[in-house]
Amino acid sequence: MKIAHNFNAGPCVLPKEAINNAIEALKDFNGTGMSVIEVSHRSKEWGAVMDECRALWKELLHIPDNYHVLFLGGGASLQFLYVAMNLLENKAGYLETGVWAKKALKEAKGLGNAVAIASSADKTYSYIPKGYTIPTDLDYFHITTNNTIYGTEIHEDMDSPVTLVADMSSDIMSRPVDITKYGLIYGGAQKNVGPAGVVFVIVKEDILGKVSRYIPTMLDYRTHIEGGSMFNTPPVFSIYVMTQTLKWLKEFGGVEKMYKRNQEKAAMLYNEIDRNPLFVGTAAKEDRSLMNVCFVMAPGYENLQDEFMDFAKGKGMVGIKGHRSVGGFRASLYNACPVESVQALIDCMQEFEKKHSK
Ligand SMILES: *Cc1c(COP(=O)(O)O)cnc(C)c1O
Repeated sequence: MKIAHNFNAGPCVLPKEAINNAIEALKDFNGTGMSVIEVSHRSKEWGAVMDECRALWKELLHIPDNYHVLFLGGGASLQFLYVAMNLLENKAGYLETGVWAKKALKEAKGLGNAVAIASSADKTYSYIPKGYTIPTDLDYFHITTNNTIYGTEIHEDMDSPVTLVADMSSDIMSRPVDITKYGLIYGGAQKNVGPAGVVFVIVKEDILGKVSRYIPTMLDYRTHIEGGSMFNTPPVFSIYVMTQTLKWLKEFGGVEKMYKRNQEKAAMLYNEIDRNPLFVGTAAKEDRSLMNVCFVMAPGYENLQDEFMDFAKGKGMVGIKGHRSVGGFRASLYNACPVESVQALIDCMQEFEKKHSK
């Protein structure tokens, strides 16, 4: 079988163990004689998967008892609306750190008063704004902890005087998180915890029920809390693969240990970008993402971009093209991306350097 060094931004590389367990369960789910996609979601066998998945989330991220963990459909993009629908009464504030943050803000504006408290649009979102003050009259303050497209990341769990809401689509489970600093955390699974089709939501019980608008049943977090994420048919296969991915993470040693490896992987690649005269990083150094490493050809070597892309492809690199809005290159180093793949990309950059250095 062909081995690819998969640096796709999402959907992305998943642990082989998770894929293999999913293949087995597609054929025969826990000795039921049926596929995991054929059993009733009301069966006790399926109920056990939901319980296991929730328990893994709680254990791996040390989620306190006054928080609920939900698994929903609709993608992280629908959560942009959910958040405002459930939490926006008077005013909401957003940290505008990229396209995803802007899209989240747009949905809130459609429902009420929502503003950007700070923005890094002036420099193509290549840094995380600092030195702003979070107003105390907000219903909530929304941040995007990792900016998948620009390769910037908020590395610390910030203190906020109002409910803190975070889109953690692309860095969830990559580092330890102090859940108690947040009112709500959400994200699409397809960046670091599973396949597309399921969204995770971690929500603190007491932030809900405070808005006066009518909330459509399916868009009300309380519906899904009461229904145990099974008010309607859940995305069973996506949840199954997510569960297997989290089991793999637990067996690896958990989020704390994964964080160490993620720091090592990112340092390897950033060191090469900083050392190699042909390449240059695009994100502000102190805000560099551990998950999405963005770089371009250095000044004087811009004409080699397509050639490097072809060269890297020839060596088995997949998915290193930068997002269409920024160009250049992006290597996504999610949890399941092996150290060997990072090394293979570095080797590739060094070989290319030998071919072309002036
Ligand atoms: C990918 C991504 C999204 C969108 O996720 P969908 O599930 O495709 O809607 C939102 N936020 C961030 C930070 C992302 O990386």
